[in-house]
Amino acid sequence: KVRSPLEVYKFLPQTNCGECGFDTCMSFAAHIIDRSVKPENCPPLIRDAEKDAKIKKKLEQLQALTSPEIAEVVIGVGDSAVKIGGEDVIHRHEMTYFNPTAFFYDVWDTMSEKDLEEKCRKVVEFRKFYVGKFLTLDGIAVRCTSNNPDTYKSVVEKVASYGKPMVLVALNPDCMRAALESVADKRPLIYAATESNWKEFLKLALEFNVPVAIRAKDLDTLKSLAVTFKEAGVKDIVLDPVTEPLGEGLKGTFERVVNLRRTAILGEDKDIAFPIMVTPISAWLIEGDEVEKAYWETVLGSMFIVKYADIMIFRSLEPYSVIPTVTLRFNIYTDPRTPVQVDPGLREINNPTPDSPVFITTNFALTYYTVESDLTSAGISCYLLVLNTEGLGVEVSVAGGQFTAGKVKELMEETKIAEKVNHKYLVIPGLAARLQGAIEDETGWTVKVGPMDSGRIKGWLETNWPP
Ligand code: SF4
Repeated sequence: KVRSPLEVYKFLPQTNCGECGFDTCMSFAAHIIDRSVKPENCPPLIRDAEKDAKIKKKLEQLQALTSPEIAEVVIGVGDSAVKIGGEDVIHRHEMTYFNPTAFFYDVWDTMSEKDLEEKCRKVVEFRKFYVGKFLTLDGIAVRCTSNNPDTYKSVVEKVASYGKPMVLVALNPDCMRAALESVADKRPLIYAATESNWKEFLKLALEFNVPVAIRAKDLDTLKSLAVTFKEAGVKDIVLDPVTEPLGEGLKGTFERVVNLRRTAILGEDKDIAFPIMVTPISAWLIEGDEVEKAYWETVLGSMFIVKYADIMIFRSLEPYSVIPTVTLRFNIYTDPRTPVQVDPGLREINNPTPDSPVFITTNFALTYYTVESDLTSAGISCYLLVLNTEGLGVEVSVAGGQFTAGKVKELMEETKIAEKVNHKYLVIPGLAARLQGAIEDETGWTVKVGPMDSGRIKGWLETNWPP
């Protein structure tokens, strides 16, 4: 596998012609590494490969060296389509994880129309603002409980109208066929081919050209089914090693999932190098009330977001279930090579006037959005200077030399803050208190030390502003 632009560059024409939309072959190579382009996006390379067998071989070599270890599977179509798999590493810190675990929420075909509509709407409308992004849910899993092809088909059609990717959950091939006849063009994942129905499911996957999940608890059986499907020409396969929610069953599930991913990435055996499905919904088999089941569903979800589920099916849409899992997923799937940061500069919050206070914070996204949202929601009119600390938080950047008096002075000059206010007071975070004197010396402004926690700024202003 190649991991650096220089290694990719060796395979490119090196003419810097710009046909790919990048100025240089090196820049194109860097984008192959970050997966925003593929080797086939270099037109001269493709043209040359058509004429010259040696170059064709080189292209194939580059494609093999840059394709992910785990196959990438797309579920759904258009803007809402979700990509799963496509991973290259066992541990996030070795590079990054690429495609966040996709979350699907279950409905079934014997649900009342009202409940079905309410649940689909909740999945579509869920949005949680977190560190500058909206966290959302990916799709809907439609379970066949009627065992009636017509009933299933009609409910699947209703769910399809919400425009989200779907997992069709039906072990009866007749029910699956009825649904696919209507919605195959939406590219649903069909779930699941098992030891008893695999022949019919193989036919369906090939006929309708849709991704298919294969389900077996025994890993040899799972592998042998995957090989059969692959050799028959099915490229988009998802593996479900069966989720058991408690005790030895849970231990076994964990071991099977880890084993699948480790063998696929570290081993020679690529027959199981496919995305993995885990079903936290199996927590609903545990005895207990709804809150307890939802709790265990969240525990299972969290465990397998970390190791190594690419797609999951949940039932609970309660905030206490969804918020922990979407937040954990966001954090696991951020790229550790790039600090999560915002643009430095000056922000105006709640229409400030020349009398308004001036605060300063860092450009670490989590710090910035916390401070900005605390100031906005408390109705504080102010200026907020955002210092480029290379994406580090206050305490770390003060200690590491990214938050310095000299840099504060530069930022104040660049943003011309002195021309916007009629005072010379700057409020620094409590965690940067030790820079108070240095910033005063450097800028000539009076520096006031604010609270440690931006949630307490409102109270702090009551006794400290106007100065
Ligand atoms: Fe280089 Fe190919 Fe891009 Fe031209 S199109 S600049 S040869 S990578």
